[in-house]
Amino acid sequence: MLGNLVVLVLLMCGTSTECTRYDGYVVLRLDVSTDQDVHVLKQIQEVPEVVDFWDFPRDLMVSPSYLEDIKATLKENKIKYVTWIDNVQDLIDTQFNHRNTEYSTDEFNYAVYHTWEEIYQWVLDTAAAYPGLAEAILIMHSYQGKEQYVLKVGSDSATPKEAIWYQGGIHAREWISPATVMWMTNQLLMDYSVDPEVKSMLDQYDIYVLPLLNVDGYNHTWEEDRMWRKTQKPNNGSNCIGTDANRNWDYMWGGEGASAFPCASTYRGDSAHSEPEVKGVATFLELKALEQTFQLFIDFHSYSQYWLTTWGYTLDLTDDHVTQTALASIGCDAIYSVHGTVYTYGTFADHLYIGSGLSQDWGYGTLGSPYSFTVELRDTGEYGFLLPEDQIIPTSEETYAGLKAAITYVMANT
Ligand SMILES: [Zn+2]
Repeated sequence: MLGNLVVLVLLMCGTSTECTRYDGYVVLRLDVSTDQDVHVLKQIQEVPEVVDFWDFPRDLMVSPSYLEDIKATLKENKIKYVTWIDNVQDLIDTQFNHRNTEYSTDEFNYAVYHTWEEIYQWVLDTAAAYPGLAEAILIMHSYQGKEQYVLKVGSDSATPKEAIWYQGGIHAREWISPATVMWMTNQLLMDYSVDPEVKSMLDQYDIYVLPLLNVDGYNHTWEEDRMWRKTQKPNNGSNCIGTDANRNWDYMWGGEGASAFPCASTYRGDSAHSEPEVKGVATFLELKALEQTFQLFIDFHSYSQYWLTTWGYTLDLTDDHVTQTALASIGCDAIYSVHGTVYTYGTFADHLYIGSGLSQDWGYGTLGSPYSFTVELRDTGEYGFLLPEDQIIPTSEETYAGLKAAITYVMANT
């Protein structure tokens, strides 16, 4: 492992001059109040070489060469804004420099961000550390051929158990997501022998965990472009690489809020499940669902501190809207109780924007999980995707409280 690290350090973006640089890039926070504003911003969003929405339609990263044009467009349309982050490269440098100087331990360190190889190894090591309680299951290979293991967590049982799924890292640049998923999963395993509540959860459910769904894209954020979001599969007839893996699921695929344009950051792919990582998860879960009912499905993202209920593709409410909302509310309260971090909740479509081909809609609509969510972790934009490492543990601790509250609710209401 340490031998690999030496090589990796040489390739990481903090040291490599090959990496995409964000000198002088700013993030603007927009004051969006009308549908007309959103309409204007959607048009801007279709030109990815000019702008990159970190959080549509509120936070917009702009390159220095287009900054004056964008400001003029905003002014013309009477959309107010403030400069929120004034040099994105400074934050990127801080993250990688920290890693280069301070990371040197054989013990898995949950307080730092990890490369995909370390996350891969973490799944295997964790399974080995908890025989009878954890198991690594190879479910697929990524587009670039990386093995993808799911960690199954739960005590052995003679009778068929119900199931839970949660995943992280579907969007490459959201580093806090896999970090939090790993910390929480390790905590469930450690708490099994000391916390009766957790024991009953792992006795009743098989919890399947995938910490890093978009493994190729994530590796790209370490080695070439820290702000990458999509997968790494090339697109026919376009120079633009990658699909938005959270617009690629085979439920209401191709509708509103997913782009048909391969260069867009929300590109839906050329067909549903075109991305091997999405297809791999969907195939695994559909097979499992033949023998186990998935009661809870959570896709962890960042950022904005939202607990989002289904649906995303429409403003219509699901038949389970009342209980889904009750769970989301309880989850937000549990998160708040740990460090006072404020989360808000609502349906994805209403609270955020319409998006189609989403994992959570597939979780509810196809997999049949009555409780299917997107959770957007810290922060509310101070650092955005470049959340400092000293927030990994606090984020994980509060999210773990939310996760346990969600499982407890599901246990009582299914
Ligand atoms: Zn995301």
